[in-house]
Amino acid sequence: MNRNDLPYRQIHLDFHTSPYIEGVGEGFDSREFIDTLKKAHVSSINLFAKCHHGMYYYPTKIGTMHPNLKFDLFGEQVKACKENNIRVIAYTCVSWNEDWAGRHPEWLTLCADGVRGVKKPFEDSFYSWRHICHNNREYQAVLRKEFKEIFDLYHPDGFWADIIQGKKCICSTCSADMKAMGLDPEREEDAEYFDRISEMRFCKSMYQYIKSLDEDLEVYFNSLPYRLDDGEDREASSAEKRKYFDFIDIESLPSEQWGYTHFPVAVNYLNKYDKPLCMMNGKFHTSWGDFGSLRHKTALEYECMRAVSNGAGVCVGDQLHPVGRLDKPVYQRIGEIFGQIEAREPWLYNTEKISEIGVLIPLKAGHDEDTVSVRSIEGVYRILSELHYLFDYVNVEDPLEKYSLLILPDQAELSDETAMKINRYIENGGKILMTGSSGLKDGRSQISSMELVHHGKSDYTMQYIRLDENLFDDIPQIDHILYEAGERVTGKGDILARIVEPYFERTYDRFCSHRQTPPKPTAGDEPGIIRLKGGIYVSFPVFRLYSEYAYTVYRDILKDCLRELIKTPCIKTDLPAITELTLRKNDKGFILHMLNYVIERKAKQMDTIEERFTVCDRSVKIYTEKSPLRVVKIPRETEVPFDHFGGYTEIKIEKEDGYTGYAIEVDRGPYLQVTYPKKLEL
Ligand SMILES: [Zn+2]
Repeated sequence: MNRNDLPYRQIHLDFHTSPYIEGVGEGFDSREFIDTLKKAHVSSINLFAKCHHGMYYYPTKIGTMHPNLKFDLFGEQVKACKENNIRVIAYTCVSWNEDWAGRHPEWLTLCADGVRGVKKPFEDSFYSWRHICHNNREYQAVLRKEFKEIFDLYHPDGFWADIIQGKKCICSTCSADMKAMGLDPEREEDAEYFDRISEMRFCKSMYQYIKSLDEDLEVYFNSLPYRLDDGEDREASSAEKRKYFDFIDIESLPSEQWGYTHFPVAVNYLNKYDKPLCMMNGKFHTSWGDFGSLRHKTALEYECMRAVSNGAGVCVGDQLHPVGRLDKPVYQRIGEIFGQIEAREPWLYNTEKISEIGVLIPLKAGHDEDTVSVRSIEGVYRILSELHYLFDYVNVEDPLEKYSLLILPDQAELSDETAMKINRYIENGGKILMTGSSGLKDGRSQISSMELVHHGKSDYTMQYIRLDENLFDDIPQIDHILYEAGERVTGKGDILARIVEPYFERTYDRFCSHRQTPPKPTAGDEPGIIRLKGGIYVSFPVFRLYSEYAYTVYRDILKDCLRELIKTPCIKTDLPAITELTLRKNDKGFILHMLNYVIERKAKQMDTIEERFTVCDRSVKIYTEKSPLRVVKIPRETEVPFDHFGGYTEIKIEKEDGYTGYAIEVDRGPYLQVTYPKKLEL
């Protein structure tokens, strides 16, 4: 499947309907159903063949049709969509199936604490379902029959199989498989590693089976294929798993667990690959299953327009009421946004992301837990996005030559092979920004042009930094706190900032004031930031500190460092940090997407959006090399005045809010010659 084949306006129509509910589907009217979808500009829909309760919504010969459904609801939905040219993806679920969990308790996962099926017997919290082991061979055979039955009866365009996520299962099947691989079921890390392997094996075998039914079926497994991957172990990597996916849905409902940083992290990792991408959010105020709530229109608009600005389609999650009737106000809201997307599609399809910085994914950054690496990765997103730099997360397997700068964030450990690759990258003109313990091993730097001696971790939990007043002339000249101290290094280079130690380490019986011990009056010789031949080294985990404390001085420090390292950035602008910019190219030129929305933490646990932000009298300069033929606002193609000098096209922004898109049309010849950022030969 090509990236440009994926419909951009999708609905995921949840229908997890308890067998205790009566009158299921009684309000369904095929004509009303399709009219509602069509008015909302829907081009694709995920429809429920079977739900987490294990109920089927068609007359099945394999499992249990919902006892209170008296007709083939799924079949009628599919028929109506097909007749109206709406793509149909059949939804089914793997590990969550209450019906079969009850009938086959021996298929449930077994965890080391003895709990079967992950869910404790009297657990009634949200999102808790009994978990069947996807590795169970008997269950896999049933699932194959189910895929075949759905395919034979309805010929959907594809399948969306939910919940293939390991739970460190040590059931007899998993234990035997682990031992066959030389793994020890008693070791938690081995069970966790086997999760990755067994998820990949499941996806591979079911993908091959589904493709054997019809090669054209589009297949997606909800098995975290967007997980960041450090590239160190290919067999257990998300990259290996993604071979068995035709498209990637980045499930990312921003309320509660995912937050607004989840999607941009995943999309800035996956955007450089060819797989079609889709952002899945929801119409819910909170998350799945939140009946009786409607996402604020501005939040929904931001999430959808941010997705398409990043080259991803949109799949809005909804939950069909048990009676089977769509809520019209929900589709009116979705339709207003899908209409905006449809109008802009000529500028959304057939585009490619532009990026100038590669960010090496530190080890284990893709794990679910809130690891230090995950926080560093989020910090990178925040700082680079707020400073309007364009970047990709890369792993050790990705090519580096297209980037003018490589960032090794906070704790990027390097194998000798990766260090050699980075050395070659620098020899060919690349620059590097190294922070924290990245690239330090055995008392020295692994990068030859970043000559440093490493003396271990700081003796203090926290320390201060005194910045060079010439380079950091916009930052107030006080000794700034580092809420987490970094590494002690020495090196031959220009010291751009020095470490200032506190008077002493705070302990229970020796402390000063409420919080950290104040700085000594004089700075020592230890560098906090040092400029070397290959780039700049920052001795503290600045990205993680920013994601944890949002002290803007950390961002301002990197702003000055990045200005030193990237002389010709893709974008120069006086737009504020709140404005999000993405830049893509197509065969006519460049498309600049600008988002101005206010993300607010109004509730303790949840971010939301209800206001657009207005920018006035600003300008944005895009490196286009040659002068463009014209600059237009999309989709109406109203011409926008521009200037061009020094390779940059400057667009004046008088007054804009919410989403704004600009097409910068360059004639074909010169455009194709634009090699930006700096092209390197490795
Ligand atoms: Zn198992």
